[in-house]
Amino acid sequence: MSLKNFDVGRGIGKGQFGRVFIAREKTSGYIVALKMLSIEELIKSNSEKQLRREVEIQANLRHPNILRLLGHFHDDIFFVLILEYAAKGELYKQLVKSGRLKEKKASRYIAQMAEALSYIHKKHVIHRDIKPENLLIDLNDEIKIADFGWSVHTPSQRRKTFCGTLDYIPPEMVEGKEHDEKIDLWSLGVLCYELLTGTAPFEEPGNTATYKRIAKVEFTLPDHLSYDARDLINSLLQRDPKRRLPLKDVLKHPWIRKYKKA
Ligand code: ATP
Ligand code: MG
Repeated sequence: MSLKNFDVGRGIGKGQFGRVFIAREKTSGYIVALKMLSIEELIKSNSEKQLRREVEIQANLRHPNILRLLGHFHDDIFFVLILEYAAKGELYKQLVKSGRLKEKKASRYIAQMAEALSYIHKKHVIHRDIKPENLLIDLNDEIKIADFGWSVHTPSQRRKTFCGTLDYIPPEMVEGKEHDEKIDLWSLGVLCYELLTGTAPFEEPGNTATYKRIAKVEFTLPDHLSYDARDLINSLLQRDPKRRLPLKDVLKHPWIRKYKKA
């Protein structure tokens, strides 16, 4: 494969190392997203290893709620990822546009997230960077987890490394302790809160203030939230990783069951 195999269309996103374009594979007519990463930038920032890990992990995952990595190639300038195309783009954009999501819609997204996360955890992969910017939506309103740049195979020597976005990191990472796949449960709780309210639960103007609130698990639930939604958020945002509601129980939770499609 090379760029010659594609009709490259408009730009649909911008990332750390380059741009993402919509494209059509010439012989099949298949629509994909091409993520073009500047090799020079990758080398400059010493990110080749991280990219290789991202590619290796994502290429081996097959799940309806995980963005498929269909292949990759490179020329002298770009390293190109061939990705499944998610027509509705970032969940983050939807959230900005609508302020907050209706409980039914949020519940369905959280259910899809729980399915996808339990699939990757079974494969001993933790994502570590769950947030609305890294979640894409396709035409059928299915969530596609994207951006495995921070994901790792458990157990790993990188377990104590700091990563991820501030608002979504769990207490054990704020404190620099070891962490495991249960960090994705915490992030799922933060995501659930943000989808339903439009803001992250520990959001503060400064990093230090955010850290403090995360370490103390200091958050308030607005009045408009239903009892079941509160209960799920509370059971995921537990300081002790072992006390967080396991994914199989998230899927059985009344707030998830209630809105499940027949
Ligand atoms: P960052 O590090 O800033 O998150 P990145 O290098 O990881 O950037 P991505 O997040 O993968 O890049 O892609 C950048 C943006 O391009 C996404 O936020 C999204 O808006 C768009 N995009 C990426 N992949 C796809 C896709 N498969 N379908 C539709 N849009 C996409
Ligand atoms: Mg990204």
